[in-house]
Amino acid sequence: MTEKKNIAIIGAGLVGSLLSLYLAKRGYKIDLYERRPDMRVSTLDGGRSINLALSDRGWRALRGIGIEEDVRKVAIPMYGRMMHSENGQLTYQPYGKEGQAIYSVSRAGLNMALMNLSEPNPDINYHFNMQVQDVNLRTNEVYLHNHHSDTDEVIQPELIFGADGAFSMVRNALQKTERFNYQQSYLEYGYKELTIPAAEDGGWLLEKNALHIWPRGNYMMIALPNIDGSFTCTLFFPYEGERSFAAIKNDTDLLNFFLEVFPDAVALMPDLAQEYFCNPTGSLVTIKCFPWSYEDKVLLIGDACHAVVPFYGQGMNAGFEDITVLDKMLDSFDGNWEKLFKEFERKRKPDADAIADLAVMNFIEMRDAVADARFLLRKKVESKISEQYPDKWLPLYGMVTFSDLPYSYALETGRQQDKIMGKIMKHIDTLEDYNKSEVQQLLEEQLVQKEKLK
Ligand code: FAD
Repeated sequence: MTEKKNIAIIGAGLVGSLLSLYLAKRGYKIDLYERRPDMRVSTLDGGRSINLALSDRGWRALRGIGIEEDVRKVAIPMYGRMMHSENGQLTYQPYGKEGQAIYSVSRAGLNMALMNLSEPNPDINYHFNMQVQDVNLRTNEVYLHNHHSDTDEVIQPELIFGADGAFSMVRNALQKTERFNYQQSYLEYGYKELTIPAAEDGGWLLEKNALHIWPRGNYMMIALPNIDGSFTCTLFFPYEGERSFAAIKNDTDLLNFFLEVFPDAVALMPDLAQEYFCNPTGSLVTIKCFPWSYEDKVLLIGDACHAVVPFYGQGMNAGFEDITVLDKMLDSFDGNWEKLFKEFERKRKPDADAIADLAVMNFIEMRDAVADARFLLRKKVESKISEQYPDKWLPLYGMVTFSDLPYSYALETGRQQDKIMGKIMKHIDTLEDYNKSEVQQLLEEQLVQKEKLK
């Protein structure tokens, strides 16, 4: 191993905490600086989301530090989407092949589990209530405000990882350097978290092993199960317009709206008005930037360099995959941090851009298309193709969620497959039409062409 560097990780969220465990495994000494108090001893007010969907890329990273089985014990598998129509009718669509699932986990629970793992390790030290205000890239000085003592402090680590999320102060310092590219775009939608509590006997009031969606055209609500029997619902809603956060001004507006569009859910939400008017409205941002590093001193990771909207359930998974990729590169590390950082950002940037675009595209699918009978038929036909040609066709959702294929490959292949589906669906009115010889022939021709493009 090369000389031990004195490493600071800014931000002890999901990505920063996991990264510390990976680096400590390689013998590095890590100090984490987190602006918030220790969530293991003080309850925090509303974070980014209460629960998250964890999928294959995330599991792979957790496996690498031996925590997969512990997290599985408190994770709830969701095998498919359960769509709720306005009249309460349910339609189910599996996410993948039999047994494949995404998993609902508690954000705080996972974060605390990662923190607890570092407890016996003298090489990992958490510093809470320490907010980074600025970074001097020339001298490596990090300026912090200690919220506990209300004093300012300066540290000077040799290496700085910026894992401080979408509104990163470390990135802020990089933004002031020459030729730094930065792009942020907000959706005209916000989100609000609401609750369906557990049943009296502690059970779940909706199907437990599904991600529930109430698709309503240009807005939607989703619900993910929690281990205590409750569901956390998230309403994704325009800020402005006839049906929007701005249009709902009081309890009556709220109740009338929910009774009209989410009648089966409202019956299960006793605290709707209180939660709706007290919980914050979150914004939805995509952040792209480049480069992600500065000389051999600073590397951004996770949301700090690629925040995405939540509609593919991949933000954390992508951040965890950053760590898997970086860790693999460390296997053949020659001690040159600058070279390592450059290689890492070059490799990851196209994939980060791809998942950012896929996430925005999936919003349209979730809020709108999943309610469409023709879309559901198309999905069934696609499953048939994938069953018939497992080596030649993986549905886009599966590539993103149940594989470690690069996101950029998934996006490109998904586009090609989408074109083929468009041609095939012209000949299909019912699922039985799939077996028609003209459909089979067209499919074979298209698959030959697709292979040629590889
Ligand atoms: P963060 O989780 O933002 O952590 C950053 C940490 O840095 C925080 O602890 C923060 O307090 C700290 N910090 C910030 N600034 C400073 C500072 N100046 N000084 C010191 N510390 C600082 N992803 C999924 O994979 N699946 C999902 O289902 C999913 N659902 C989501 C739902 C919603 C509504 C949202 C908003 C996001 C969702 N995501 C999901 C995305 C996921 O939350 C993020 O991708 C993930 O949290 C990124 O982790 P991170 O550690 O990079 O950043």
